[in-house]
Amino acid sequence: MKQNYKLILDRILEEIQPFLEKGEVANYIPALANVDKKQFAMSVHTVDGFSYSVGDYEKPFSIQSISKVFTLTLAMKKFGDEIWKRVKREPSGTAFNSLVQLEYENGIPRNPFINAGAIVITDSIFSNVKDTTNNIVQFVRNLVNNQNIQINFETSKSEQEYGHRNMALASLMKSFNNLNNNINQVLEVYFNQCSIEMNCKNLSKSFLYLANKGVNPLTNEQVITIRQTKRINALMLTCGLYDSVGDFAYRVGLPGKSGVGGGIVAVIPGTLSVAVWSPGLNKSGNSFAGTKALELFTTYGCNSIF
Ligand code: GLU
Repeated sequence: MKQNYKLILDRILEEIQPFLEKGEVANYIPALANVDKKQFAMSVHTVDGFSYSVGDYEKPFSIQSISKVFTLTLAMKKFGDEIWKRVKREPSGTAFNSLVQLEYENGIPRNPFINAGAIVITDSIFSNVKDTTNNIVQFVRNLVNNQNIQINFETSKSEQEYGHRNMALASLMKSFNNLNNNINQVLEVYFNQCSIEMNCKNLSKSFLYLANKGVNPLTNEQVITIRQTKRINALMLTCGLYDSVGDFAYRVGLPGKSGVGGGIVAVIPGTLSVAVWSPGLNKSGNSFAGTKALELFTTYGCNSIF
């Protein structure tokens, strides 16, 4: 069976080549606009210790919105169900950085994976954790069992300079009393968490706890409870892929999270974590080739959850 993952990833690497031409890199963040879009990597880690990777799997990239899963995990650990007073759990059906819905829903974001929701989650952590940026990075390092995970502060600065829309989201929430701290300070942490860099191999490792009932198999640490793991996976399935989450569920069938850096990571609960990276994005902001690669992965018989 494990041998199949090798065959499947090798086959995907071959078949994905024509798709690397497609999609556009995220150019609204200048630091991401210069990335070569023809790159591709894929990495699988099973909960019982097997791993296999293909392509540019050692090359670090910006994890962007994938960081929202880590901050949600931290917030759920610290505050439990309290967080649901400030953010909902429904797909938004709108762009990840849309302002419109937030206005008519009184500053309560639809879910923790759109930008507004993630900013609220970061705000809640900021209220309770000193040195918030370092705490978030350290949490990620522990998940991967690797102390070399870093933030790219150039990317973070670039996001700050051009982050007018996130600024608007934060200000709107502040006007509805749903942001407790200084807007600039919270956004600085938010941009820092988005600018964490990881390679595809480490990204796949970092989600193993979500495939393993909340226990990180690399360290045996219980990161979150089984119940919380189930909840995070459910949120990824319903809200993890921007406003094409339904299409992703239809094509891939796994809970996952994407970022505009071109990474997508998904889990098969009880079995494995799989990460892909390719910077060309489709119209919704998901990696074009990455989505196709994951579709092939589950199509080629890798224990789809269904
Ligand atoms: N830092 C990005 C932003 O706030 C995250 C976007 C994403 O990956 O969805 O616009």
